Amino acid sequence: MKIDRNGSQNSAKGPVEWFTGNVRLDPLFAANASRRATAGAATFEPGARTAWHTHPLGQTLIVTGGVGLVQRAGGPIEEVRPGDVIWFEPGEKHWHGAAPSTAMTHIAIQENVDGKVVDWLAPVTDEEYLGAVKRAFG
Ligand code: MN
Repeated sequence: MKIDRNGSQNSAKGPVEWFTGNVRLDPLFAANASRRATAGAATFEPGARTAWHTHPLGQTLIVTGGVGLVQRAGGPIEEVRPGDVIWFEPGEKHWHGAAPSTAMTHIAIQENVDGKVVDWLAPVTDEEYLGAVKRAFG
């Protein structure tokens, strides 16, 4: 048994190449010799979101705070709240982030293939983000 104590891992700022707005990343656990999954918590300030991306073996999000938005390519934007569990299929293009005026925190769990858990694509533009919000919540 091994316990990683709260406070033993540094927070990091979400890199500008992969995130729009202010995002804080808190690692939870890495893969090891017998565990393929990795997990971390991400906190998005209002309006902040990931770029479009895919995960080779999919991803599970568990919303733990605030109000968030998620969208798969070609699908409607969805509002998500604490306790909601979201599954993205392997290769499913999507983004996740905060609502326009409310922050959101989720735990993200994904399994790696040869060390890779994500393939990053283009940023979610303000037009895509605000347009989707307007269509959903007009
Ligand atoms: Mn994702």
